Amino acid sequence: MTQKNTQNHVGVDQLTFQNPVNRFPSIEPPQQHQPEPGLDEQLVPKADRGETSYRGTGRLEGRKALITGADSGIGAAVTIAFAREGAEVALNYLPAEEKDAQYLKNLLENEGHTVHLLPGDLTDREFCRSVVDQAHEAMDGLDTLVNNAGKQVVTDGLQGLSDEELEATFDVNILAIFRVTRHALNYLPAGSSIVNSTSIQAYDPSPHIMHYASTKAAINNFSKGLSQELAPKGIRVNAVAPGPIWTPLQVSDGQPKDALPQFGKNTPLGRAGQPTELAPAYVFLASSESSYVIGETLNVTGGQVSP
Ligand code: NAD
Ligand code: MG
Repeated sequence: MTQKNTQNHVGVDQLTFQNPVNRFPSIEPPQQHQPEPGLDEQLVPKADRGETSYRGTGRLEGRKALITGADSGIGAAVTIAFAREGAEVALNYLPAEEKDAQYLKNLLENEGHTVHLLPGDLTDREFCRSVVDQAHEAMDGLDTLVNNAGKQVVTDGLQGLSDEELEATFDVNILAIFRVTRHALNYLPAGSSIVNSTSIQAYDPSPHIMHYASTKAAINNFSKGLSQELAPKGIRVNAVAPGPIWTPLQVSDGQPKDALPQFGKNTPLGRAGQPTELAPAYVFLASSESSYVIGETLNVTGGQVSP
C-alpha cells in the first residue's frame, strides 16, 4: 500500500506566482474529430489536468465525493485535485471512456488515493439513482456531489437541430442533474456541498449551440433555487462557469472544425484555458472554507465578462 500523499508536486504548482497570460501556452489545435464522447487520450495537443502540477493542501481531508463526467477534461482535473486535497472519489463516465478512467485511477492509486469507478449513462433515469447508491455504498458515505457531465454538439442554427440532439442534450446536461441531486439528498449530511458545471454560454449564448446554452442557463437557475431550499439544512449549492477550456468535448463536434485553431484566443488572456485551471474553483466551493458562499456561480473564463 502506497503512503497517501496530499503534499506532492511542490515544484511549479497552482500556488506558484505565475503570469496567467503565459502560465499555459496559447495553443492552436489542428482540425481533428473524435466521435462523442471524445477521449483525453486522443486529444491533440494534450490537455493539462494538473497531473504534474496540482498540489493538495488538505482542504478536502476525509471527504467523499461523487463526480460525474470525471474521466476527462474539467472532471478529470477536479478528480485529481479532490483526491490530492484528501477526498475519496467516485467517478462516473460513459463506458466508452473506460481508458481515460483507468488512466486516472492508476495515476491516483499510485499516489495512495482511493478511487471508485462507476461507469454508466446518465440519460437513463434508473442509472441516475443507482450511481448515487453505488457511490454511497462504495465510500460508506457521500458528502460532495459534482454534477459535471455534459454534452455539446454544434448545429446549423435552430432548424438544423434534431429532436434527438435537443432531447439528449437536455437529458444529460440538466435533467440528470435534477435526478442525481434529488436522489443524493437521501444521503448528503449537513456540511455537504454540491457544485454544478454551468458555462459562460449561460449568459452569452452562441447561436450554433443555443440548445446547450439553454441547459447551462437552467443549471445556473437550478443551482440558485436549490441553494435556497438546502442552505437551512446545512447543504451548500454553487456552480462553476468555465469559459473556453481545452477538452475532448470540443473536438467531438463541440465546436465547428474550422474554429478549433482559434479556440479561446478571443479571451482577454488570449488563450484557451486548461482543465486544471478550473480545479481550484471546485475545491473552494466543495471545501468548508466557503461556508458562507451559497447560490453563487464562480466564473472561470479567462476574462470573458459575465453578469
Ligand atoms: P469532457 O468531454 O471531458 O467531459 C464531459 C463528460 O460528460 C464526458 O467525459 C462524459 O463522461 C460525460 N457525459 C457525457 N454524456 C454522458 C452521459 N450520457 N452519461 C454520463 N456521462 C456523460 O468535456 P469538458 O469540457 O470537461 O466538460 C465538462 C463540463 O464542463 C460539461 O458540463 C461542459 O458543458 C462544461 N463546460 C465546458 C467548457 C469547455 O470549454 N470545455 C466550457 C463551459 C462549460
Ligand atoms: Mg470524457
